[in-house]
Amino acid sequence: AQERYASLRNLPAQARCGTTISLHMNAGLMADLPSLEGSGAEGVGLFRTELQFLIRNQVPKRGELAALYARVLDAAKGRRVAFRTLDIGSDKVLPYMKPQDEPNPAMGWRAIRLGLDKPGVMRMQLQALIRAANGRPLTVMFPFVAQLEEYTQARDHLMRALDTEGRLGHTLPSKIEVGAMLETPSLAFAPRKFFELADFVSIGGNDLKQFFFAADRENERVRRRYDTLNVSFLGLIEQIVRRCGETGTPLSFCGEDAGRPIEALCIAAMGLRTLSMRPASIGPVKHLLRRVDLGEARSVIDAAREAGAQSVRSAVMDWLTTQG
Ligand code: PEP
Ligand code: MG
Repeated sequence: AQERYASLRNLPAQARCGTTISLHMNAGLMADLPSLEGSGAEGVGLFRTELQFLIRNQVPKRGELAALYARVLDAAKGRRVAFRTLDIGSDKVLPYMKPQDEPNPAMGWRAIRLGLDKPGVMRMQLQALIRAANGRPLTVMFPFVAQLEEYTQARDHLMRALDTEGRLGHTLPSKIEVGAMLETPSLAFAPRKFFELADFVSIGGNDLKQFFFAADRENERVRRRYDTLNVSFLGLIEQIVRRCGETGTPLSFCGEDAGRPIEALCIAAMGLRTLSMRPASIGPVKHLLRRVDLGEARSVIDAAREAGAQSVRSAVMDWLTTQG
């Protein structure tokens, strides 16, 4: 199987209907970067920056981070890297952070909430990213944005950091893209202005699903209870596709489900054109996408929804057995 996928490496994830899906990889450590070449990923759709903070025993220095991010961009050789700012909370406790005693850490003071309330570290991180780009394009993605204002405030921090860096004489990025992760259902219903202001939106399906079904992604008893292909969840994805479509906002999906072939196929059939996943999933996902017609897949999904199915999985699996 490994060889079969290797032979697909330089081929596009083009479905039979002619639609091409752009496949990117998720990363978080320097050690992940060599996979960019091996996997055939078009870029890094999600770079989880918190790993660099978790493996240290003090807040990394700005210069250290800038050097590290610069090496990431060097390794990407011009491919796009979406740097996600710190997604830390009381569940992912930094050894040097005062532990917060929160009853519900996943819904607590985490990610962008912490970043906006105590902006020191986020500002330092944004400056490090700008310095790392050093005249190259820069893509920044804010995690766990639940409402418009969190996005505008985070974006303002980035704009101010650009100002500061410019005044300090650093070369600014040639191009800036700022986006938000859609990880809470609320953001799917945000004012149109959010979709106008965001340069892109990326669905963090792991968290989105957890909050949509109110089912803890860490809790073995409930985490597999609700299928990603549940018609309600697909309805939410349909809503997000529609909202982004109204404003022409580029949309991607970067949760674990993007790396599961059947799920990836259904997400693409709902209208997603960019998926980001662990590098090893790119081959299997591409292999399946190239075998199918996305319009037909969508008809199968819609027929199952109309027939009152709870999940479209069995209908899609049955249909797949009829495909070459
Ligand atoms: C997600 O929530 O889907 C996501 C990509 O972010 P993380 O898994 O790091 O929370
Ligand atoms: Mg998340």
